[in-house]
Amino acid sequence: MEKTALFPGSFDPITKGHFEIVLKGLTLFDRIVIGVGSNSAKKTLYSVEQRIKMIQDVFKNYPAVSVVPYTGLTVTFCKSIGAGFILRGLRSGLDFEYEQSIAFANKELDGSIETVFLLSSPSYSNISSTIVRDIIANDGDYTKFVPPGLVL
Ligand code: ADP
Repeated sequence: MEKTALFPGSFDPITKGHFEIVLKGLTLFDRIVIGVGSNSAKKTLYSVEQRIKMIQDVFKNYPAVSVVPYTGLTVTFCKSIGAGFILRGLRSGLDFEYEQSIAFANKELDGSIETVFLLSSPSYSNISSTIVRDIIANDGDYTKFVPPGLVL
């Protein structure tokens, strides 16, 4: 059976940390669907369309990776695309605290979908989209923090 994981997130913008999690995920899953969500609580710098286009460019040579917009419950979306797994990245204990409650809620909502956590490498564990947005806003060199070739 093909193993498909949904990697949901805001990706505003995609960082080297996200990129690494997808590459690691590809060693476990046949297919990774990157779900670009519109989180109502977050005001984004880039539109969903811009974020999708950036991520598609980054993964253009990875046929097992696709990028889609999504709204609504993550588990419902997983069902609609045939994903049995939710992939999430962990940078720290703080991430874990937050992620654990989401994973428990998702498990309650649909017991058939498993959340899989992958740890970021120490060199990427301090990278966040928030930091990248701050660097961009202050005309800094963001290229060190985003996947190779990504122009913002
Ligand atoms: P969300 O709004 O859902 O938190 P993000 O785009 O901020 O979306 O993050 C998506 C996923 O990527 C989350 O699981 C987050 O913990 C993970 N992530 C973010 N930055 C990194 C990083 N530097 N290394 C590993 N995982 C990361």
